[in-house]
Amino acid sequence: MEIKRILIANRGEIALRALRTIKEMGKKAICVYSTADREALYLRYADANICIGNPRSTESYLNIPSIISAAEIAEADAIFPGYGFLSENQNFVEICAKHKIKFIGPSVEAMSLMSDKSKAKQMMQRAGVPVIPGSDGALNGVEAAKKLASKIGYPIILKAAAGGGGRGMRVVEKESDIEKAYWSAESEAMTAFGDGTMYMEKYIQNPRHIEVQVIGDSFGNIIHIGERDCSMQRRHQKLIEESPAILLDNKTRKKLHDTAIKAAKAIGYEGAGTFEFLVDKNLDFYFIEMNTRLQVEHCVSEMVSGIDIIELMIKVAEGYELPPQESIKLRGHSIECRITAEDPKSFVPSPGKLVKYVAPAGRNVRMESHCYQGYSVPPFYDSMIGKLVVWGEDRNTAIAKMKVALNELIVRGIKTTKSFHLNMMDNKDFINNTFDTNYLARH
Ligand code: ADP
Repeated sequence: MEIKRILIANRGEIALRALRTIKEMGKKAICVYSTADREALYLRYADANICIGNPRSTESYLNIPSIISAAEIAEADAIFPGYGFLSENQNFVEICAKHKIKFIGPSVEAMSLMSDKSKAKQMMQRAGVPVIPGSDGALNGVEAAKKLASKIGYPIILKAAAGGGGRGMRVVEKESDIEKAYWSAESEAMTAFGDGTMYMEKYIQNPRHIEVQVIGDSFGNIIHIGERDCSMQRRHQKLIEESPAILLDNKTRKKLHDTAIKAAKAIGYEGAGTFEFLVDKNLDFYFIEMNTRLQVEHCVSEMVSGIDIIELMIKVAEGYELPPQESIKLRGHSIECRITAEDPKSFVPSPGKLVKYVAPAGRNVRMESHCYQGYSVPPFYDSMIGKLVVWGEDRNTAIAKMKVALNELIVRGIKTTKSFHLNMMDNKDFINNTFDTNYLARH
């Protein structure tokens, strides 16, 4: 079925990113916006714009009736969800189907299998995917947690089954700390996700976070588009991502890709998705979760493969058959720095007006941003104002290019994390690839 009109149920850089591909494919793009985003420049490039409510996301980007009404008014035949907001909301996917609007993403079944992280882990274990030792499903209260922790041995990590964005997680070093950690993680998960279900894992000391991009079609074909290393994190949130993960030797890399394909096949996955793994010192890898959506860091995979992942997502939704794995050629090295409107030292949000804005450009430099001079970053949403992505023949070339590009980026009026990234590009441990997910916590 050919999709003609796509409503983009998102905002900011990803709305513009999707809009570009939709237009390039000769389709109509419809944007929605909250009153806080009415000045967004990308609205002018869309074929139609519909205001869906007040600044607060619950009253706009998370408001299902408003978005469905907008899609009906605009006669959209499909919805592109992006990441965050409604992208992993099963209720929304079902409502789209009821309204005969194609949700560009996986089936409700696949989404629900992966949405509870503790259940997803059980499912993957049964499919023969290595997982981190821990609770078999959800934890049944503090006493059960204590018992299990003493069995698997400290340190352990308590994680929210509905978790995301690094929230609802607590590392526990010793038994006397577990009770407090349990209650605080549970209440954080309750507030953030409306679900306080907790599970436990053995805490892996200083792991790397490496994930595999996959995409499946309606014929049961699954291909991968390589892996990404997302180990440069702050409070379990990614700051810098790259592809490939040069830590891996070719044999381990192949094993990781094959595992992700096997995992996707086990759940009959259709659409773009990511299998996330933690990798220990011995290069043993363990599944931690699957994201059933496009990820922020998809661009580095696009840079090394030459594939437009959003285009592929739309084509798969139209019933197109994926090309064979052998046709996917990965080349060179790509790095992404997430630029946020935050203080580069404290990471405290810094919304406000960009009195000056100059975006970097040049060969193999890609600035994914909806910003422009005079734009005001609203305080209501995620603080990411753009992603700076570069490609080079190898990692060192990419780092050199990133330095030049970061220096070209000029933002005045608000604080940004540009200087943090510039420092990282000169950091010995980053350059030598001798860091892990806890690097920033230690330094
Ligand atoms: P979220 O869904 O919130 O992103 P994840 O399960 O993907 O949570 O984990 C996010 C990050 O938290 C990982 O990249 C890693 O840095 C850390 N982490 C999660 N589980 C463990 C573990 N068992 N041991 C060590 N670190 C972990």
